[in-house]
Amino acid sequence: MLKGKTALVTGSTSGIGLGIAKALARQGADIVLNGFGDVEGPKAEIAALGVKVAYHGADMSKPAEIEAMMKFAAAQFGRSRVDILVNNAGIQHVARIEDFPTERWDAIIAINLTSAFHTTRLALPAMRAADWGRIINVASAHGLVASAEKSAYVASKHGIVGLTKVTALENATTGVTCNAICPGWVLTPLVQKQVDAKAAALKISNEEAKKLLLGEKEPSMQFTTPDELGELAVFFCSAAGNNVRGVAWNMDGGWVAQ
Ligand code: NAD
Repeated sequence: MLKGKTALVTGSTSGIGLGIAKALARQGADIVLNGFGDVEGPKAEIAALGVKVAYHGADMSKPAEIEAMMKFAAAQFGRSRVDILVNNAGIQHVARIEDFPTERWDAIIAINLTSAFHTTRLALPAMRAADWGRIINVASAHGLVASAEKSAYVASKHGIVGLTKVTALENATTGVTCNAICPGWVLTPLVQKQVDAKAAALKISNEEAKKLLLGEKEPSMQFTTPDELGELAVFFCSAAGNNVRGVAWNMDGGWVAQ
């Protein structure tokens, strides 16, 4: 379905981004990976799916590096554009507002929100010229509702839901769509840190901490998986998604239904 298309997924060396990159690759898209940590493992996982894969290590808090990544991605695989842009890179910090380190606030807004403004503005002209494009923003249940001690994260995720709607509206008469995915808890390194913190604070086991975390928010008592989220991204890229514009689709075990 996506053969001949280039998909750039930010923050795709791990977790949800890697899951989405693999789901798009299974549909034939060639993939540009981005993110920190192990690169060779994720590259090999994508290559094993029979598509082309490239990597750019841009730091999503640095606009000049984002510009370089966008030029690099568009030039890969003998094409001149990014067809599918998945804005996924994200970080978290948990503290009350009065204790929140200001540099953590700035980093979260830059990586979780502002980076998507830069990638989107740089990807749009070529998508519009081709009259086809998909922009998928990985927001969160925290793009729709809030939790205490996550001010910067909740602000960034509500912000990216807003950016999703504006991007969708500005391109509504074209073949370019923009939508957001709003996961509940997904057991990635980002959430494992919160499980570990809870286990340490309450002196309980990892398994008990996971149950507590789920029990606070997620009626299904199940983590959503990167593979499930990847299939939602595939749907947005399908022909059935042609007129799905500006939605913030939660896949959250009932979190925001409450
Ligand atoms: P993760 O920590 O497993 O992955 C984050 C990815 O972003 C990694 O590849 C990391 O290298 C990359 N990254 C971090 N800082 C970066 C930077 N400055 N520049 C470039 N890349 C950077 O986390 P995850 O849980 O897979 O999170 C992915 C996205 O999903 C985030 O936007 C997160 O907010 C969102 N999300 C996660 C959950 C969850 O429960 N895990 C729930 C809702 C939304």
